[in-house]
Amino acid sequence: MSLPSAPKRDFSGTTLLLVEDNAVNRKVAVGLLSRLGCEVVWAENGHDALAMVQSQQVQLIFMDIQLPDMSGLIVTQRLREQGGWLANVPIVAMTAGGAEDDRQRCLAAGMDDYITKPLSLSALSNVLAVQLLHPQTKALHRH
Ligand code: MN
Repeated sequence: MSLPSAPKRDFSGTTLLLVEDNAVNRKVAVGLLSRLGCEVVWAENGHDALAMVQSQQVQLIFMDIQLPDMSGLIVTQRLREQGGWLANVPIVAMTAGGAEDDRQRCLAAGMDDYITKPLSLSALSNVLAVQLLHPQTKALHRH
C-alpha cells in the first residue's frame, strides 16, 4: 500500500499524547510534531500517562516501550481496557528497535503502528497520515 505522493504535512488542530521518559527524545519528538502543526502533551512514565487521559482526550498517542515504571505494552493494555475513546484512539509505538521492541508484541498489546527512533519528520508525517487521515489504509495496516 503506497502513501500519497505528496502526504499532507499540516496536522493543525491535532492534539497528541507523547509518552517518553528520555528528555532528549521528548524534545526531538515535540519539535518535529510541532512543525507538523500538532499540539503535544507529554508524560514521562506510564502512571502519569494513565492519569492524563482521565482529564484530556487526544487524537493519537505515541508510546515509548521502555518506561521507568512499566512497559509501554502494559500502559497500552491498561489504556485499551478503559474503553470509550481509549478503545479506539491510535497508539503508535516509538521504539529503539531492540529485541524488546518487537513489532508483533506491540500490535498484540493493542497498538496500531510502530516507528523506530531516531524519529524523522517524514516518518512521523507518514504515520500521522495513515492513522488520522486514511481510515481505509489503516484498516489494511492493522494485523
Ligand atoms: Mn524509554
